[in-house]
Parts: sequence; C-alpha cells; structure tokens
Amino acid sequence: MSTLRFHALKKTFDRVPVPVIESERRSEIFGRNVFNRTAMRQYLTKDSFKSVMDAIETGAKIERHIADHISTGMKEWAISKGATHYTHWFQPLTGATAEKHDAFFETMEDGHAIEKFGGGQLVQQEPDASSFPNGGIRNTFEARGYTAWDPTSPAFIYGTTLCIPTVFVSYTGEALDYKTPLLKALLAIDNAATDIAKYFDKNVTKVSATLGWEQEYFLVDSALALSRPDISLAGRTLLGHSPAKGQQLDDHYFGSIPARVLNFIRHLETECMLLGIPVKTRHNEVAPNQFELAPIFEETNLAVDHNSLLMDLMHKIADKHNFKVLFHEKPFANVNGSGKHNNWSLATNTGVNLLSPGSTPMKNLQFLTFFINTLKAVNDHEELLRASIASASNDHRLGANEAPPAIISAFIGSQLTDVLDELEKVTNGKLSPQEKTDLKLNVVGKIPEILLDNTDRNRTSAFAFTGNKFEFRAVGSTANCANPMTVLNAIVAKQLIDFKVKVDELIKSKKMKKDDAIFNVLREYIKDSKRIRFEGDGYGEAWEKEAERRGLSNHKTTPEALKAKISKKSIDLFEELGIMSKVETEARYEIEMDEYTMRIQIEARILGDIARNHVIPTAIQYQNILIENVQGLKNIYGTDFKKYATEQMHLIEQISEHLAKINKGITDMIEERKKGNKIEDAEKRALAYCHEVKPYFQIIRYHCDKLELLVDDELWPLTKYRELLFTK
Ligand code: ADP
Ligand code: MG
Repeated sequence: MSTLRFHALKKTFDRVPVPVIESERRSEIFGRNVFNRTAMRQYLTKDSFKSVMDAIETGAKIERHIADHISTGMKEWAISKGATHYTHWFQPLTGATAEKHDAFFETMEDGHAIEKFGGGQLVQQEPDASSFPNGGIRNTFEARGYTAWDPTSPAFIYGTTLCIPTVFVSYTGEALDYKTPLLKALLAIDNAATDIAKYFDKNVTKVSATLGWEQEYFLVDSALALSRPDISLAGRTLLGHSPAKGQQLDDHYFGSIPARVLNFIRHLETECMLLGIPVKTRHNEVAPNQFELAPIFEETNLAVDHNSLLMDLMHKIADKHNFKVLFHEKPFANVNGSGKHNNWSLATNTGVNLLSPGSTPMKNLQFLTFFINTLKAVNDHEELLRASIASASNDHRLGANEAPPAIISAFIGSQLTDVLDELEKVTNGKLSPQEKTDLKLNVVGKIPEILLDNTDRNRTSAFAFTGNKFEFRAVGSTANCANPMTVLNAIVAKQLIDFKVKVDELIKSKKMKKDDAIFNVLREYIKDSKRIRFEGDGYGEAWEKEAERRGLSNHKTTPEALKAKISKKSIDLFEELGIMSKVETEARYEIEMDEYTMRIQIEARILGDIARNHVIPTAIQYQNILIENVQGLKNIYGTDFKKYATEQMHLIEQISEHLAKINKGITDMIEERKKGNKIEDAEKRALAYCHEVKPYFQIIRYHCDKLELLVDDELWPLTKYRELLFTK
C-alpha cells in the first residue's frame, strides 16, 4: 500500500475545526497593531506628528533630528505592545515579502542593556542585496543595497516584531523592489490628475489612485498537500486525473462555507483587523475548495502592502488550521483557476471619485474626461498592460475560458457606449450655444448617477467599467498588485498630461472656451480608442479574429508578452514620468524572463521525478500482479488460459504502452532542457523553455493520468484530485 497517501488521508479523518475566539468587536480591534494616526498622536511630539503627516500628504522630507524623535516614539509604542524586534519590511522582486529582524536590545559599556532604536535605524538599513533578483544591476564588487522608510504606509506589529514598510534600492540608486516604481507612478498620476481635476474644481490639490483587490485562493488539507511533491514545490498539481465530480453542478459557488474553513477565515480576519487590513467580503468561489476574500478599497500603496501582508498572513494562519493555501493561478486542471481582480479608481482630496458619474452636467463632464482618457491610455498601451500581468502561472489562466483572454479590451456597457457615440458627433471647433445646451441636457446630463446596466457585467472582459471604477480582471492571484498598478497609473498619468497639453493649446491658440476644448479633444480620443472597446463575448474564437483585425495584441505566453516591457515606447514612458530608468526597466525584464525559465525548469524537474520515480514503479508493480495472475491462469488452464486472461493481458499491454510514452517523454524533455540551458540570451532561453520544454508536460501528464485510471487504487502513491478537492 502506498503509505504516504493513506497516512495523509487518515490524518484528515480526525480533523475538527480549530476553535477561534472572537471576544471583542471588530471595530474595536481594527488597527490596534498599527502605528496609525491615533497611536502617533499619543506617542509623538506635535512637531514629529506634523512632519509625518506632511510626508504622507505632500511627500515632504523628514529632517534627521525629527526622525530621531519619531523612532523613539515608535519604539515606545512597539514595546508597550510587546515587540522585542524591528525589521524593515520590503517587497523584493521575488514576489514574496522580505524581513530581517533586529532586536531593540543593545548592551552598554557598563554591562547594562537597554532598548534602543534610533532615527538612523528607522530611516535606512543596508541588507545585502546580492541574494535578491537584480537583473544585472548590482556590480559584483558592490553588493550592498539599502532599504528606506516609506512613511506613507504605516508601521505595524506582527507577532513580536515592529515592521517598517520600506523601499529597496541598490547602492547605486536603482530600484530593486516593487514599491519604488509604484510610489513614483502614484506621484505621476497624482500630479497629472490633479491638474485635470483643477479644470473642474480649483480646490483639488491631490488625487490618489485607489485599489480594491479581490484575492482568490484554494485551501487544501496540509497533510494531503504535503503528500504531493508537486503541490509542495510548485504550488500546483502537475498531474492527476479529474474526479467524477468537479464543478459541473455549481454547488460550491456562494455555498455555505465549510466549518474548518470558516474558522480559518475568522482567525485570518481577526489578524487582519489588528493589522488594519479592512477585509470585508468572504465567500466560496466556483471550484471546489476555492474561496475569495476582498477588502474595502484603499489608497493604492497601502492596498498593495496590505495584499502582500495578507498573502503572508494567510500562509501562517492556514498552518494553524491544518490547511495549505494555494495562490497559484491554476492549481488543478479542469476546474477554475484563481485571479486577483484589481478594482481601480481615482479619488480627490475633496472626496470625489473621479470615475463616478455625478448629479450635474459639469460633474459628468469631469467623469467623462477621466473615463475617456483611461480608455485612450489602455488603447495606446494595451501591450504594456498585458505585459504587466504576465507570469508562467498566469499563462494557464488567460484565455482558458474561465478568465479574460490574453487580449486586453475594455467593456463599458451600453449606456456609456451610447454616450460616447453621441459625443463623437460634436462639432469640430467651437460649439454653438444650442449644441452645448443640447449636450448638457441630453447627453452628458443624462448619465445616471448609478449606472444600472453595469451591474450586469461582462465577466469575459479584461478591463471592465463597473459603474464607478474599472476592474482589471486579468491580474493573476499570485501577482504583486504593484506591477499592474504601476503600469496602469503610469499610462493614465501620461495620457492626462498629453490631454492637458492639447486642451490648453486649443484654449490658447484657437481661443476656445475650456469646455469646448475638452469636448473637442475627447471627441478625437473616442475615435482613436474605439478598437479597445469590446462588449461581446471575450471567450469566443470570433473575438480573437476580430481583435487581430483591430490590431490588438494577443500574446498567449509570458516570453512573448514580456517583450512589450522593453519596447522604446515603454522605456520612454517610464523615463519621461521619472518612474524607471532604461537600466531599471531592462533589469526587470531580465528578471521576469529568467523567473519564467526557472519556473518551467522547476516544474519540468518535478514532473520528471514524479513520473519516473513514483508513477512508473507503481505501474510496474501493478503490471507484475497482472503478470502473476496470467501465469497462474496458464498453470491452471494450460493452452486454454487466454479465454480467462484476455483482459488482464490487454491491461498489461496498455500499461507498457503508457510507460513507454512517459519514459520517452521524460528523456526527450530532459534533452530539450539541456539545449535550452546552453542558450545565453534570456529571452531566447525563455522561448525555448516555453515552446520546446513545456509541451512535454501535457504528453507526460496525459499518460500518467491514464495510468491512474488503470492501476489499483490501493497502490497509487499520489493523493488523488477527489481527495485534494473534496476534503473539507
Ligand atoms: P463586486 O465586484 O463583487 O460586485 P464591489 O463592486 O462592491 O463588488 O467591489 C469589488 C471591489 O471593488 C471591492 O474590493 C471594493 O473595495 C472595490 N472598490 C469599490 N469601489 C472602489 C473604488 N472607488 N476604487 C477602488 N476599488 C473600489
Ligand atoms: Mg469583482
């Protein structure tokens, strides 16, 4: 009997929900472990408090002597909460979060010890950068990198450690993390959008991009997960036959949450509350054992930090409930995979959502301005947006008829389509008073505050307008949201800058009134960005053909999609907005290309190991039982034995055929890997892995899965899909 699988299964029989105590109201514990405004008011001097607030609101620098005061206050607060250590908390390009804990504890010359945390330690640290991905930026002789405090994301305590969100840059100043370019993109959109918002309201001084992510994930019993080498090492199953029942009955979606899972979620939510992560929604997703969690939206930098923190937290808390969380976009074949919708909008310091239609024609013109500029930005940079969500794991999801295709398009709904069609007809040049009144009354003024038809969403669209925000649906569940958010905010910022130049030009040289100029530029943008709008079925083959005709990109794999990152257009965009230098953009491209290759390489090795060392020996073992049986029948019946042994002999042959295909598949795959590894160029190597190595996965898997159906269940070593997906 295959011991590991059955041992693991036996463990799951005794599982009971791990008790969770929720003794205090959530509103009371919210943010308790965050150095938020309330804590700062209590622990900082007036000057220090003001200095932090200025840094958050205007990006003002914090003086060194003030930093000393802040660090002291922060330390006092942290120690009062039981913290013993502090760490700079950052998001290197590995996709995980990084931390290195140091104790507050310091010894004095006289042998005493004190707790110490100076301004220097708050503001900057120097971790060794050599073991993080750097895309060739770091010189070998200068391995240092440094982390620098980001005051816009508050410090928090996790366990007994004070965590200080930071950026991570090389000694020569290049960004080595996700946060640095994101902060710069957020600054760019703030400046660009504020300038435009001022056309409509002079009181606007700041615009923040907002983000509300929806995190999908799978939960698998930890004993079962551990019994599978592929889940343990790659976070997904590389083989496994589909169970008789999958998601075809739709009986899991929005169903009652299983008791063990609910306790895990409640525990997680409590921790989120303490850390100020405003999680709000929880429900079962479409696939068995798939779930979703969503917060109230926040300012983007904070929302990104909160998502990274949440993912880390989920692993830790799942452990306590004997679950393993799978964030992979496609952990199981033939059931839905996981995504992370990024809901995005722009909010002014005056409390207006710029992507929300208003109650007056003027407010609606403002809404349309931001709305149409966003469409234009997505139209002009669809390839870069596609590149921002490319990863080996997301390749499984995009275009698999459960998530948007690899084509970026925007869905806006029929009401707004009508409005844009009308606006496209406005006069070229100055508008007559009659036309303006007509527009205000019948077009712009008619946009309802709540867009009803947008509640009936088109689930197949990559980028959908959902009433008061855009929802970027193609983002993968493992992604750090910073990557797509950097790109989205950058392209919209660039677009708004161009818009302002055009409008101001019409006002100046053509002596147009402001709203005439706006109408004129918007009219052209509507025409120019028509190809990105698509209201139909994004899953259909017809759309692929139509998209091709429209000249939209359709990159189905990561190596192909990533190329757009280093096009001249993208490099110029990032440079112009001060988000990344050419060197930084190219380094990121290299890192992502290499990561792709490594992921496929790792999976190829795991699959080779499982197929050769687990599946083949098991199949031979079972085949031997069959051979023994046939020989026994021969002993009894002599030449007549075939009458009784035909089916057994057929099974023996089938097993041999599958074995041969598997073994040859592995040998050929290894050959292709060897060839791929000799390729120097990162892009060509990734393409080789994509087109020469990866296709063997399907071949090897197919025959392994067939064997799973033939071989005695008692002998099968790998925990089966029905066990992974239906153990609750
Ligand atoms: P659903 O998409 O499930 O119908 P909602 O429309 O209420 O649910 O919101 C989905 C997500 O969108 C939530 O995470 C929410 O916080 C976020 N969201 C709502 N409004 C905004 C906004 N203005 N900016 C960014 N995210 C938003
Ligand atoms: Mg949604």
